[in-house]
Amino acid sequence: MEYKVIRHHRRKRLAVTVTPMGEVIVKAPLYASEGYIEKFIISQEKWIKEQQKYYEDAYHHRILVSQEEKAAMKKQLLPQMQELVDRYAAMMGAEIKSVKITSAEKRWGSCGKDGAICFSYRLALVSQRCREYLVVHELCHLKQFNHSKEFYSLVEQYMPHYREAEKELNGYYIHLRQ
Ligand SMILES: [Zn+2]
Repeated sequence: MEYKVIRHHRRKRLAVTVTPMGEVIVKAPLYASEGYIEKFIISQEKWIKEQQKYYEDAYHHRILVSQEEKAAMKKQLLPQMQELVDRYAAMMGAEIKSVKITSAEKRWGSCGKDGAICFSYRLALVSQRCREYLVVHELCHLKQFNHSKEFYSLVEQYMPHYREAEKELNGYYIHLRQ
């Protein structure tokens, strides 16, 4: 099994984590021997495999992007989102102040009460259906500033199969490579 060791002088015991990408990271004291670490990994193998399987099942797409890729994604995404926002805003009679592409790693989009809409650059790598869902979702927030039943029935009105798109979107793990 492949793993990465991170040593630290203040660490006293070994600890292992599995990242959503499936990488195995071992935190170790500064002078822990390779054999000692190897033995530890073998003792944790079952748990490690379970974690890896969990992330494999949870995410159908797992992608890490570089800074350069991110910049390109931002450029490419803006006109696409602008086009979708214009189309749905006209349909919904929504007033939009601005559309921006952000570096958000934790959320896909946001919407201010003033009609300023933001989308994460990460949407450049999801399907068109997911992008459309995000647009409908954010525009519906201009009428309902919450995630209530009323909010979702509004979403459903403009996108009857939004649940499938939402589920698909949750299956993307796209982040900047650290
Ligand atoms: Zn929302």
